[in-house]
Amino acid sequence: MSVPSSVDLSPADIYRARARLDGRVCRTPLVEAPVLSALAGTPVYLKLETVQPTGSFKLRGATNALARLAKTGCARVVTASTGNHGRALAYAARALGIDATVCLSRLVPANKVDAVRALGAQVRVSGQSQDEAEHEALRLAREEGFAYVPPFDDPFVIAGQGTIGLEIVEALPDVANIVVPLSGGGLFAGIALAAKSANRAIGLTGVTLARGAAMHASLAAGKPVLVEELDTLADSLGGGIGLDNRYTYALTRELIDQTVLLDEASIARAIVHAYRHERLVVEGAAAVGMAAVLDRVLPAERIERGPLVLVVTGANIGMDLHRRLIAADGSQTKSQSSSRTTR
Ligand SMILES: *Cc1c(COP(=O)(O)O)cnc(C)c1O
Repeated sequence: MSVPSSVDLSPADIYRARARLDGRVCRTPLVEAPVLSALAGTPVYLKLETVQPTGSFKLRGATNALARLAKTGCARVVTASTGNHGRALAYAARALGIDATVCLSRLVPANKVDAVRALGAQVRVSGQSQDEAEHEALRLAREEGFAYVPPFDDPFVIAGQGTIGLEIVEALPDVANIVVPLSGGGLFAGIALAAKSANRAIGLTGVTLARGAAMHASLAAGKPVLVEELDTLADSLGGGIGLDNRYTYALTRELIDQTVLLDEASIARAIVHAYRHERLVVEGAAAVGMAAVLDRVLPAERIERGPLVLVVTGANIGMDLHRRLIAADGSQTKSQSSSRTTR
């Protein structure tokens, strides 16, 4: 399949990534979700990136980028992250004997900051947004000679995330739709490239935030634009795509069939659904595919085409927040059912 001519990335890069990832990253399970299948009227499967050792799929891209850098003798890397990429980079760097520095903004939850530190990386907390953290990372790269590993806009990172797409089409050859959380677009671009190369007819849906979604705003504007970053349950979906975006914007524009936007309440409901019905602890960003099914926002004519895969991207939610969401839902359900019985 053809990719935008401005982008130098092919399915062969994703197969090369898979070889680099072998033995370092999990091939994750793809499991059917009966409650969601019944609701959607078509088989729904969950691709569980929650089981990766760092709790998210970001280990794939980070490992691919670092394994290649390690071959060039690179000794020090830096990145900016909403949390999960930094954690993945720290993990991969430790495995490969590379020093990692991770720049995080003050919006990154404490559980994620602590996890990066625990893996032996240097942490720099600076700025109020992902974009400011990125400035700091780029400054370190420029002034102190670190190799910069971007969180999404990098061909090796995209190819690493794309290995998820290979695994999906191999495990479920008749997959008709794949639903992917969308932020910077590295995950979406990689999966879409792998899937559409296998079968052009596979539908690719990006799910993102109703407020503060930079890729969606950029697709609507026809070029990369800035958006204000807001506090959200799906903290891994925050941050811009970069005004000088080189890969993910063009690839996403080319490969996306539709975008779905969600509000905070539906993300919260999907986190609770994951816990009660799928027995999964997921972070907000990972719940958006389930939210799209629960809210019935995927068009019926698309769903009718056949099996649907939701990429469940990560488990790294703060446990206190998770407990509050589950408890709040429990009390709501009780009051709802009691009001029903009084009627
Ligand atoms: C990074 C991340 C995403 C979004 O990936 P992009 O490549 O930035 O689009 C989704 N979910 C989780 C859990 C993430 O960590």
